[in-house]
Amino acid sequence: MKINCEISTFLDVIAGKIIQGDLTQVDHTVVYDSRKIYQGSKSIFIALKSNHRDGHQFIGEAYDKGIRLFLIDQTTDVQAYEEAVFIHVADVLKALQSYAKYYRKQLNYPLIAITGSYGKTMVKEWLYELLSIKYKVQRSPKSYNSQLGVALSLLNFDPQADFGLVEVGISEAGEMESLAEMVQPEYGIFTSFGTAHRTNFKSEKEHFAEKMSLFKGCQFTFFGPGVEVPKTFSAPHQKMQPSAFQKELSFFPYTDAVHVFNATIAIGVASYFKVKGPSFFDRIKHLPSLAMRLETFEGKNQSLVIHDAYHLDTEAFVQSLAFQVSIAGSRDRIVVIGMHEHNSALEEQLTQALQSFQPIRYEFLYPNEQPSLTFDHSVVLLKGTRKAGMERLINFYRLKKHQTYIEIDLSAIKHNIEKYRAELNPGTKMMAMVKADAYGSGQDAIPLFLENLGIPYFGVAYADEGIALRKLGVKAPILVMNAEEDGFSDCIQYALEPAIYAKYQLDQFIKELIFSGKTHFPIHLKLDTGMHRLGFEQADLPEVLALIKSQPEVYVKGVYSHLAESDNRRDRRFSELQINRFQSATKFIYETLGYAFDRHILNSEGIINYGFAQFDMVRIGIGMYGLSNHPAFKNDLKAVFKWKSSISQIKKLKKGDSVGYNRSFIASETKTIAIVPVGYADGFKRSLSQGKGGVYWKQHFCPTLGNVCMDMIMIDVSGLPVNEGDEIEIIGGHQSLLDFANQTETIPYEVLTSISKRVHRVYLQD
Ligand SMILES: *Cc1c(COP(=O)(O)O)cnc(C)c1O
Repeated sequence: MKINCEISTFLDVIAGKIIQGDLTQVDHTVVYDSRKIYQGSKSIFIALKSNHRDGHQFIGEAYDKGIRLFLIDQTTDVQAYEEAVFIHVADVLKALQSYAKYYRKQLNYPLIAITGSYGKTMVKEWLYELLSIKYKVQRSPKSYNSQLGVALSLLNFDPQADFGLVEVGISEAGEMESLAEMVQPEYGIFTSFGTAHRTNFKSEKEHFAEKMSLFKGCQFTFFGPGVEVPKTFSAPHQKMQPSAFQKELSFFPYTDAVHVFNATIAIGVASYFKVKGPSFFDRIKHLPSLAMRLETFEGKNQSLVIHDAYHLDTEAFVQSLAFQVSIAGSRDRIVVIGMHEHNSALEEQLTQALQSFQPIRYEFLYPNEQPSLTFDHSVVLLKGTRKAGMERLINFYRLKKHQTYIEIDLSAIKHNIEKYRAELNPGTKMMAMVKADAYGSGQDAIPLFLENLGIPYFGVAYADEGIALRKLGVKAPILVMNAEEDGFSDCIQYALEPAIYAKYQLDQFIKELIFSGKTHFPIHLKLDTGMHRLGFEQADLPEVLALIKSQPEVYVKGVYSHLAESDNRRDRRFSELQINRFQSATKFIYETLGYAFDRHILNSEGIINYGFAQFDMVRIGIGMYGLSNHPAFKNDLKAVFKWKSSISQIKKLKKGDSVGYNRSFIASETKTIAIVPVGYADGFKRSLSQGKGGVYWKQHFCPTLGNVCMDMIMIDVSGLPVNEGDEIEIIGGHQSLLDFANQTETIPYEVLTSISKRVHRVYLQD
C-alpha cells in the first residue's frame, strides 16, 4: 500500500495543503494503525477516524516510531512534531479514496470487482489461485472490502499485471457509489444474495439494486448460481451453474453447496478467461478450504500458538505480527517461519518487518530442520508457505490434550460487540465483564483481544482475576466486584479498582491505603437498588459519603447497580423502579461529593431492553458471546462457541448387552454405540445420562446410552455410517449453546463456566 508521486500531483489529487514542513516526492507506505508501524520513516500516517478510535490521538506514538509524514483533517498541535510534514485535507478517508481512484486510472489491466452477501473472500482467493496459472494477478488482501479496505487494496496493486481482483462490500445504504467510483471495474462478479442478515437497507430490493450498481460500466458480469438475475439487466452477463462445469467440479474436494457454488464461480470465471488443462484440474483439487484463517490454539509449555495459513508476503506477515502483539501482552513472542526453499529477497523483507516488532526470537526453518524447544509462557506465531510442511511445525508446538475442545470465534465476538456498540449513545463507554475465565472463553486470550478492539474498561469478580489480567499486560482500568479484605493490598499494588459495598469494607480499604501511603485511589460504590445482593442502600449513603469526603485516600470513580430482570421486557415495572432509585441515588451522591463519576446499571440484556438508562457506561458479558433473549436482536448476533470432540471407539451391542456403570442401559435389540471422550468432569453434566441429552454426528442426533461417566459418554449411532475419529458436535450449528443449556435445565452462563479447564480452547479469527 504505497503512494508514489510528486507532491504537487498528490496535493492536487487529494485537494490537500501542506501546513508544516517541506517535501518534493511522496514515496511512502500507507499506515493508519500506530501499532502496525514498521519502517516509520518510509511511511505516511493517515489519521483516520473509526467508531472507537481517532487516528489523531495516535500522532505522538506514530512520531515516536519514526513517522515524518502525516495526513490529517483536524487541528493538531503540529509544532510539537517539528521534524514532520503535515498535509491537511477536508476528510482523510475521502482523500485516500481520491488518490486510490487516481492510481487505479493508471493501471492498464482490467479489474474484476467481486461483491455479494457471502463468499466474496473465498471466491476472490480461489479465482486468484486459478487465474494465476496463466496470468499475473493482483488481489485485495484478506477481506479488505470496506471504504478503507478497497482504497488500500487498489494502492497495493502492482502497476504491471494482467488482472486485479477487488473485493467490495457494503453494509449500509449509499455506500456503493464511492466504491464503484474508485474501482471502475471492467468485469463484475455477484457471488450471492442472502437475506439472513438483518441489514441496514430499507428493503431487499433497494439492497440488491445498490449491489448491482457496482456493475454499471462493466463489459461483462458473472452471477453466482444462487443469484436471481433481474430481467431488466441487459448488459452482457452469464449465470454460473455447477452443471456447466461438471468435469472441473469432479476434481473439487468438497460437496457441500456453499463450497460448490463458490468453486463454480471461480472455475467459471477462470474458464471464461481461457484457463484450462491438467494444471487447472490439479489446482482445483487443491483449492484450500479456508484460505485466510488465523487459528490460535494452546501450545506446549503454557504457550499460545497462532498459525497463519495465509500467503507468505510481507503485507500479510505484518498483519499477523500485529495480531501476535495484540494478544501477547507481556508474554514472550516467538516467530517461526517455515520456508520450503531459500529465498533471500523474501527473507530480507520479512526480517525487516520482524525488526520493528521485536519478538524475543525468530527463526526461518527449512524442511528437515527442527524447531528449538526453548519457549515457555510464550506466544508463538507460525507462518509459512503452503509447501513448507506446516503440519509438522503445528504438531510440534501444539499441546496434545484430549481430543475434546472448544472453538472460540474471535471474529464473532468482534461482530457482536459492534452490534452492541451500535445501540449505544456516542459517549457511552463499554465495560467488558471477563470474570470466571471470561465466561469460560479463556482469560489468557480474550481480555487482551478485547482491549485491542478498543474496550476501555474491564470488570472481574475477584482481585486474583484482576492480577492475572495485569500480568498478561492489560492496561485498561479494572473493576473488582468482590474485593475482600485480603485482596486489598493486591488492588493497590496492581491498580485494581475495588467496588465498595459496605461501610466496614470501606474502613478497611482506607486503612490499607493509609498503610501504603496512597492517596486519591479510585473506588466504585455498589448500590443495591432491588437485587438484594451486595450493595449500599439509600439510607447508608450519608454516612458513607461523609467518610469518603473526609478521607483523601479515596475518590469515587464510579457508582453502579445491577438489574434483577433486565431480560423482562413485558413487565418493565421492577427494572424501571431500580433505574429510578439509581437515578436519585447517583444524583444525591453527585450533589454531596461535588464531582462527577461514571454511572452504570445495564448488563447485556439491559442495553437492548432499557437503552434509555445507559448513563455513562454499560457492562457487557454474555452478549459478547452471542446470546440474547431479545427476539429480533438475537438474530443479529453470531454464535461464538463450538464444543467438539471425536469418536474414540465404535462397538456393536447384542440384545441383552449392558452399557456403563449400574448397567443402566440394556440393549433390547442389536445396536451400534460410539464412545466419546467427554464426561461430567469436563462439564457434560451427569443429568444428561440415559438419553436425556446427546450430541450430533453430522446432522444426526445421537442420544447418550447409560450413564455419563467422569471422562466419557456412550452414544447411540445405530444405522449411521460412522467411523472412529469422526468429529462429534456437543455445541455448535445443530445443537446451540442454548439448546444444550435447556437439556441440562440450566442457563448458558452456567454451561460456559462449568466447562472444565482441561478442555482446551482453540481461537479462530478471520
Ligand atoms: C456479570 C455481570 C455483568 C454482565 O452480565 P451479562 O448478563 O453477562 O451481560 C454485568 N454486571 C455485573 C455486576 C455482573 O456481575
